[in-house]
This record gives sequence, structure tokens and C-alpha cells, in this order.
Amino acid sequence: MPHAAPTTHPHLPAADEGLLSAVAAGEARLTPEQGLELLTNAPLHLLGRWADARCKTLHGEALRTYVIDRNINYTNVCTAKCTFCAFRRDAGDHDAYTLDHEHLLDKIAELEAIGGTQILMQGGMNPDLPLSWYLDLLHAIKTRFPRMHVHGFSPPEFIEFVHFFNPPGATLADQVRWVMVQLREAGLDSLPGGGGEIFSDPVRRKIGLGKCDAEAWLTTMYVAHELGMFTSATMMFGHIEGHADRIHHMRLVREWQDRALSREAGENGLGCYKAFISWPFQREHTPLGRVKDWGSLETDTGRFPGDVVANLEGDGERHAHPEFGRRIRMAGATEYLRTQAVSRLMLDNVYSIGSSWVTMGPHVGQLALFYGANDMGSVMMEENVVSSAGTTYCLDEAVLCRLIRDAGFLPAQRDNAYDILRIHDGPESPDRKVTDWSRHRAQRLHAESARDDKAAELVITAASRPADTVA
Ligand code: SF4
Repeated sequence: MPHAAPTTHPHLPAADEGLLSAVAAGEARLTPEQGLELLTNAPLHLLGRWADARCKTLHGEALRTYVIDRNINYTNVCTAKCTFCAFRRDAGDHDAYTLDHEHLLDKIAELEAIGGTQILMQGGMNPDLPLSWYLDLLHAIKTRFPRMHVHGFSPPEFIEFVHFFNPPGATLADQVRWVMVQLREAGLDSLPGGGGEIFSDPVRRKIGLGKCDAEAWLTTMYVAHELGMFTSATMMFGHIEGHADRIHHMRLVREWQDRALSREAGENGLGCYKAFISWPFQREHTPLGRVKDWGSLETDTGRFPGDVVANLEGDGERHAHPEFGRRIRMAGATEYLRTQAVSRLMLDNVYSIGSSWVTMGPHVGQLALFYGANDMGSVMMEENVVSSAGTTYCLDEAVLCRLIRDAGFLPAQRDNAYDILRIHDGPESPDRKVTDWSRHRAQRLHAESARDDKAAELVITAASRPADTVA
């Protein structure tokens, strides 16, 4: 049946019970104005109630999922200079690295040994790597691990591939397609949504120096969808943006998803955004993190500069406030849960909403399951980008399963297509096999420390080391 977007009811107040009930049932769509009203003014419990209802309509009441994958950040050399990034390095820096293929394959072997099903492979945008480096790598991965799903290379990386490799094509989409087809034939399965940040141009130009604009980001994903690939979309908030920027960002994802879903399925099926994940900016060790918080000076009066500038079209006048881009408004747990809940309600055409325990910690991540999230994301064998910015939560499969079970759901391992691989309802479930949780956590932390030491050695040898926000 052709995709048809639900009907909007712009005359109704955003918090109208009938409207929200219809949104939860998939029978009505929020307007951007209603989304903004909810994000700004609705009580937290109301947002949670309706986001949870929408989640249950789509995913039922029994299962909540996770995936076993590994973030592999193949290089930290990057031509961009995003001000929120603590991960990037210039090529000549003493701790710049690019992983060689053997090292990368060893990491995948470790993942396979614990039952992992996919790698999330992203890097900085490194101009020294030729296209053959990527093709050889993908061939090698699929030769040695034919069932391993490769979720790799976010839109900013693709746009830089176009700049670096100058592929044939009359339009940017043609050039991206040319590269993507080659990578796909070599083994690339799907695209992660890294580099989404905030689409609004005034914000993006301030924080994403040297990174592609929203149009290029969305076009790259549309090309992937045309090729029948699944992708995810992301949003990083809680910095200089206004609330309207967040809603504008969600609106664009929703509109481009409508376009993807309205197409006829190609020979490889119908590609689309399968998931949306949002998280707050992590400030440690980042240039943007050194900016003062709004409200910390006596002269900070009136509305937050990001809100003065932002509009629902994403083209706010950045000179409307002299402090725009010079003050940040960090998002804590409540703001995170509000934003995620509104994303579940706004994005009526996106199947999965992921909890960001990596940035928010395990217990807020668990709470997110009642604010629209159906998925706890990944067991974290390795993470290098958010941890560069000072956040170092790491959970194994047993802990993730326990968090889901303690929230009242059955934990289930999924694959990249969100098909269920295993439902953990028996005594052999990873969490039920743990008899001493204190010891389990201690052993795990010890293992993490050992791995950190090893990683530090690799950095010093300069040619090695490993992000989701990357690129
Ligand atoms: S976020 Fe990605 S594109 Fe931006 S500087 Fe960091 S590694 Fe480069």
C-alpha cells in the first residue's frame, strides 16, 4: 500500500488529549508548531505518557531491544573542525592515527567471539586515504566475516569522499551514488546517521566548521534509500541551538522519510530511516565546551540567544542576538527525556527511537524506555568519540539485559534491520547467568581499564586508534 502521511489538525492545541491519542495511534500528525509547543511547555509526565503510548502502538508491551556491535573509528584525522568535537586530530599530531586493515579485522574477530552481529565504522575525514583503502577493507571484512553487517560511513564522510575522489556525476547526488555503489558492492550494508547534529543553517555554520550542510546530509541519505539501504538519523542538542531548531531538525527527517517511503521499492527493497537517536552535547575537552553557560553572567537577561534566533524554517537571523553562538544551554536528564519524547511523537514515520545511555548513563537510559525509546542501542565494546568528550559509560550484554528487564520488559537482541534474533526469557539469559552483580561489575571495569591501557599504547605508536558522533 502506498505510504500516506497521517493528517494534521493545526487548529487543535498541542496538548489536546484527542490529538495526542490520535498521534499515538498513528492516525494524526503533529504540526511543527504543535511540536514546539509540546517541547517548550508541556509537563514532562504528559510527554512521557503519550510518547510511551506511541511506542507501545509500534512495538507492543513485551520486548525492548538492543544490538551487539562495535564502534570502530578507523581514523581520527579529520579535515573538519567541529567545535563540539574532542576526537579529531590533524594529520601531523602526535596522537593522530589510522588503523591498518589487520588491526581492524582483529577487532571484528573479538566482536564475533561475543556474538556480535554488526560493526559501526566511522572516522574522521582523512584526505590521505584513497578509495581503494575503503574498498580493500570492505572486501577483506566480507571475506573473513561474511555475515557481519557493516553499518558504516556517515553522510559527511560521503561528501568528503566526493571532494577527495572527484567521482563522475552531474549532481552531488550522482557523485555520492557513484561512490556509494562501489562501497556497497564491496560490502557496505547500511549508513549510520552521524554528523546530523542540528540541521538549521545558522547553528550548523557555528559548530560544524568544514562539515557538509543539511541539504548534502539529507541528499546522501536519500541516495542510500534509493539504493534500498537502511540508515539512521541523529540529532545532537543542548548547545547553542534553540528549541525551534530541534523541531525543524525533526521536521526535515520526517519530510525526507515521507519521500523515501513514497517511492516504489527498487530491486534491493525500500530503503528508509530505520531509527532516530538524539543525545545532548558532551562538553569536556571541546572548544564549544569552554563557552560560558547562558545565565552565568549578570548581563545575561531575557531569552536564551538560541531561542531568539531559531525559527521553524531553520533559517533564523543569527545576528538577532549578539550572544548567539557565544553561550550554551546544556541539556540535563529532564531536557533529554523531553526532547526524546517529542521526537517519538513528531517522527510518526520512523520505526525505532534509540535511548542514549552512552551519554546519559544507564539509569536515565533505562528511564528513556518510558519516554518513547524502544531500543537500548548497543553493547559498548568500544567507544572513542563521546568518551573523548568526557563521558565514559560502558555496558555489557548482561547489564543491558538487566536494565531492560528491571524496567518491566523482556530483553531481546536484534539485528540492524530490527529483526529479533533472541528473546531472553529463560534462565540462560545473559543477566540471569550473573550470580554476583558486584563482582560482575568489578570484573568488567577491570577489563575496561586494561583495554584503555592497551588503547593508550596504540595511540603512542601513532599509526593506530579509534566514534558515533564522528563525522
Ligand atoms: S565531529 Fe566528525 S567531522 Fe566533526 S571534527 Fe569531529 S571527526 Fe571531524
